[in-house]
Amino acid sequence: MLKIFINPGHDMDLDPGACANNIREVDIALAIGEKLKRTMEVIGYPCQLLQSDNLNGETKGKPNVCATANNSGADIFISIHCNSAANASAKGTETLVYALDGGKSNILAKCIQVQIVNSLNMVDRGIKERPDLCVLRETSMPAVLVETAFISNQEDAYKLMYRIEEFANAIARGITDAEKLF
Ligand SMILES: [Zn+2]
Repeated sequence: MLKIFINPGHDMDLDPGACANNIREVDIALAIGEKLKRTMEVIGYPCQLLQSDNLNGETKGKPNVCATANNSGADIFISIHCNSAANASAKGTETLVYALDGGKSNILAKCIQVQIVNSLNMVDRGIKERPDLCVLRETSMPAVLVETAFISNQEDAYKLMYRIEEFANAIARGITDAEKLF
């Protein structure tokens, strides 16, 4: 059984993330992360969840996400976010990895991406390389960052508001699909 580290993006006290259409990224990311944790635990996967403004030592007084993950013995790291754009017509799902190297993070990203796109009928924006993102670069296990949908797009925002469970369950199926391919 994979041990799963779940990192809902942003911080309840210090950073709400993107805000649009009367919803906040920090709340949606946490709701999806908590549902994912419950689902995975029910089917026997140990999980740890941490949402914190301190990604790698920059915010004193908040737990360090990368250090906690690296010390947790987790096999995979999943960060959950919502996307946002000035252009309100931008929509869809994308999953970010440190490098497009064909490794386990890429397998995991593809499995999660296809499950979300198919089950929620999302625009498929693909798997993208983001070596600049701390949580992908500084974590020592296969790591992905899921940009679930655009909070700035009305149709996507509606799904983020009312279909939390489906996002979580799609990520869960992506994890179990990927495990078979590892
Ligand atoms: Zn974010």
